Amino acid sequence: MITIIGAGPAGSYLGYLLAKQGKKVAILEEHNIIGSPVQCTGIVTHSIEKFFKLKNEVIAEKLDKVIVAGKSNRIEVNVDEIVMWRDKFDKFVAEMAEDAGAEILLNHKFIGIGGRNMIKARNTKNNKIKEIKTDAIVGADGPYSAVAKAAGINPARSYIGMQAKVKLAMDTTAFETYFGSDFPNFFGWVVPESENTARLGIGCFENAQEYFYRFLKKRTGKKDVLCWESGLIPLYNPKKPIQKGNVYLIGDAATQVKATTGGGIIPSLKAAQTLCGCIANNKDYNKEFRRHSGRELRLHLMIRNMLNKFSDRDYDKLLGLMAQEKVRKILKKYDRDSPIPLVANLLLKEPRFLLFGKMLFA
Ligand SMILES: Cc1cc2nc3c(=O)[nH]c(=O)nc-3n(C[C@H](O)[C@H](O)[C@H](O)COP(=O)(O)OP(=O)(O)OC[C@H]3O[C@@H](n4cnc5c(N)ncnc54)[C@H](O)[C@@H]3O)c2cc1C
Repeated sequence: MITIIGAGPAGSYLGYLLAKQGKKVAILEEHNIIGSPVQCTGIVTHSIEKFFKLKNEVIAEKLDKVIVAGKSNRIEVNVDEIVMWRDKFDKFVAEMAEDAGAEILLNHKFIGIGGRNMIKARNTKNNKIKEIKTDAIVGADGPYSAVAKAAGINPARSYIGMQAKVKLAMDTTAFETYFGSDFPNFFGWVVPESENTARLGIGCFENAQEYFYRFLKKRTGKKDVLCWESGLIPLYNPKKPIQKGNVYLIGDAATQVKATTGGGIIPSLKAAQTLCGCIANNKDYNKEFRRHSGRELRLHLMIRNMLNKFSDRDYDKLLGLMAQEKVRKILKKYDRDSPIPLVANLLLKEPRFLLFGKMLFA
């Protein structure tokens, strides 16, 4: 029996893959419904189709443009992306897991490991503690991972992702990203979800409220939000152990997030495939994950570290290079879920991108 803690995309997709292989799987979810509260923008590239075909009801909008804005330069790039209703997406993946034979136990909060083959969970309805026998424990329990803590694995350094649903009519085929000194160490975003609502957010390490409200006022002219959808965005840590004996971590709990964008959905689906193979074939997940995804996530981290040293002028120069037709074609052809061919082709077509490389060592 394999017990997965957390019915987010990482836990449910892993549950689906393992159950499909005939493994006995239980997924424990602390909430009484799946997919709530929403703490995500829900943007994914079309790479999601490598994993499954999304149901139409999961899709809020399809986007074919991104506006990338610096302090005094802005460009438009063609893309092919999907905005999902994140609660419906989580339910969709959880249903896949259940249909494949995994059991989902709602209102079950993991509270500790009670020996090598035992976990403790509290029923959040009646507060009763339950001991569950298990051969393996998977922490798919997000950025605050209680499983990582129980296994003695240090918590991740995380961005504060402050996001709200706001009233805003904007082009429903384009999303906006904002870079520079008003968005230190990360960026701001505005993503349409319907004709008159959008998801507006920023990521940063500190003073999130200040940056958020300044951005909200500047972009919408208002101070009100419809509802909050904020959460932590873990920064990928290549040194973090993600397996200790029969305890495994996946998704945000394992910092499997693209450090450039904060996107963690696709990396966690890919990690689920790796972890399923490791559990089924008794392989070392620390090594296998690095082999399958480590280079890509390290590249995102290197780019993030470089961008974090950019001044407003550097961003404007970068946007100038990105505005060229030859570069835009590459950006449309290779999405950010294939960062190695993307960066290699960008450098081939526009070697001046290398000039920014000096920031890596500054
Ligand atoms: C503001 C914001 C915007 C984002 N935008 C995007 C985006 O546009 N695209 C993208 O790809 N990524 C985005 N992300 C990141 C993305 O949301 C995460 O990477 C993704 O949700 C990770 O999935 P997960 O299954 O690992 O964790 P989660 O989705 O966090 O799921 C963890 C699950 O575990 C449950 N749980 C937690 N603790 C316990 C416990 N003790 N016992 C039982 N259950 C427990 C939780 O209730 C939850 O259901 C964003 C994140 C934030 C904060």
